[in-house]
Amino acid sequence: MEVTASESQAAYDPNCYMCPGNLRASGDQNPAYRNVFAFDNDYPALLAATPPDKYSEGSLLVAKGEPGICRVLCFSPRHDLTLARMTVTDIQQVVEEWARQYEDLSAQPLINYVQIFENRGAMMGCSNPHPHCQIWATATIPDYPGVEQNSLSEYREKHGSCMLCDYQQTEHSLNQRIVCENNDFVALVPFWATWPFETLLLSKRHVADMVALNSRELAALADILKRLTVRYDNLFQTSFPYSMGFHQRPSDGPHPEWHFHAHFYPPLLRSASVRKFIVGYELLAAAQRDITAESAAARLRELAEVHYLDATS
Ligand SMILES: [Zn+2]
Ligand SMILES: [Zn+2]
Ligand SMILES: [Zn+2]
Repeated sequence: MEVTASESQAAYDPNCYMCPGNLRASGDQNPAYRNVFAFDNDYPALLAATPPDKYSEGSLLVAKGEPGICRVLCFSPRHDLTLARMTVTDIQQVVEEWARQYEDLSAQPLINYVQIFENRGAMMGCSNPHPHCQIWATATIPDYPGVEQNSLSEYREKHGSCMLCDYQQTEHSLNQRIVCENNDFVALVPFWATWPFETLLLSKRHVADMVALNSRELAALADILKRLTVRYDNLFQTSFPYSMGFHQRPSDGPHPEWHFHAHFYPPLLRSASVRKFIVGYELLAAAQRDITAESAAARLRELAEVHYLDATS
């Protein structure tokens, strides 16, 4: 078994800018927080004061300033944990804070879209193992949520129903790509998955954003996140790297067509160190699958929901 960095971390790192009580680059001192802690990113990629000025060179070169806000959310005061190693109760604190952050940022007049995402593991270029996510809130709807926005709108106009509700129903009746589920959420390997163990996490009820989730659904989201991330860690007995994030209603309108969901994009293919690279044909021509979505779902489904580091045998 390969020993990964996060398995040998200490619970507190005096040099970590996210650990409780430590100083950050801004000179601010983190409070002695006990569950979650959010702060404005000290090196933000977006600034609220950026003028939304347009630049163009004829019709060929067009650009626009993007005002926005970047925050960091620490999931736990413990430097050495990950979602997979946290309790469902503690994950629920994170889920509730995600909803609060979405509500707070989306209410700001400047903001029309809130992207919450977690980049986990050194393989994904994550520089600090402290469990955390980033929240980037922007004035415009970014490219991929924008594409989904158009698809959801067009489908609703054409069929009078929600594309992701219909898709979920199809997956349930086929029952080939579902990994795990509870009363309120389902995790599945999507039909169109490109990454070997890519998953899509869907709310069973048609809700547009996290604020619309009731308390039972917030708890169910924590439960499914724990079960899915434990399966991921168990797959190659490693602290599984991934990029994950939530797609939800842009805040420029009510958007009844939106269906709240999360994507997990993990790079690993065959072991804790053998990953997929999107290169060659896939970079130049089209995406290819290394293993089928059905076999990936079956492998994840068969794994235990007890973390391998907690297993007694
Ligand atoms: Zn830390
Ligand atoms: Zn729906
Ligand atoms: Zn999406």
